[in-house]
This record gives sequence, C-alpha cells and structure tokens, in this order.
Amino acid sequence: MSVTVKTAVDHRPVWPALVRGMACKCPNCGEGKLFRAYLKVEDHCANCGEEFSHHRADDLPPYIAILIVGHILVGVMLHMEMTWTVNPMVYMAILVPLAIVMPLAMLPSIKGAVVALQWAVRMHGFDPANRKAA
Ligand SMILES: [Zn+2]
Repeated sequence: MSVTVKTAVDHRPVWPALVRGMACKCPNCGEGKLFRAYLKVEDHCANCGEEFSHHRADDLPPYIAILIVGHILVGVMLHMEMTWTVNPMVYMAILVPLAIVMPLAMLPSIKGAVVALQWAVRMHGFDPANRKAA
C-alpha cells in the first residue's frame, strides 16, 4: 500500500492560478507570458521555466466564449425587442459585429484560465507522476 504525502511545495492554489491565467500570465509565477501569439501557448515560462506544453485546452475556450456571448447577446436582443420596435437591420448592424468581436476579445483570457486550471489541478502532463512514457 502506497501513501501519497502532499507537501506545501506541491500545493497549487486554483484561484490565484485562474486569475494569473486570465491575465495571460504564467499560472505558477504570474510574471512570465502565457502566450507567444494570439492563442499560441508558450512552451515554457520565460521567468520561472514552468512547462506549458502539457496543456490540452482543445475546444473548451471557444465553447465557454460562445456560451458567455450567447447569453449576453440573447439578453440584449430580448431587451431591445420588448422595449422598442427595432428594425431587423439594427440587429444586423449591432449584434452581428458584437457576436464576432466579443468572443475574439475574450478567448485569450478564457484559454489562459483553462490552461491555468489544468496546471493547478495537475491535469494531463502537468503532474510528473501521471506523465505517460514517450
Ligand atoms: Zn512562470
């Protein structure tokens, strides 16, 4: 029977990591950049050397962005429809650009939070004990 002992060094607090990830910073140190391009995650932190190549954000960030933007825009559309008589072209002029710009603006922060969460809870290869042999 084996017993795993967690030490203070092993502890990765989730909320600070999420805040750092949403700021597109390294979830470990909060100083290094998480992305080298718009949504391209760095291989490792330039400040502390934490490895990021283990992340598997996949389709979760766009799903979350669509979920948030959909709820906001449907609420705005329902409010506009119930409050005023709105020409459908007004919806096209306002809501369609918002439906394009808002998810693109949110995606880096959402992806940063997803990567930070995976790091904090040691998903995939973020836990050396769970890494598969190559
Ligand atoms: Zn770092």
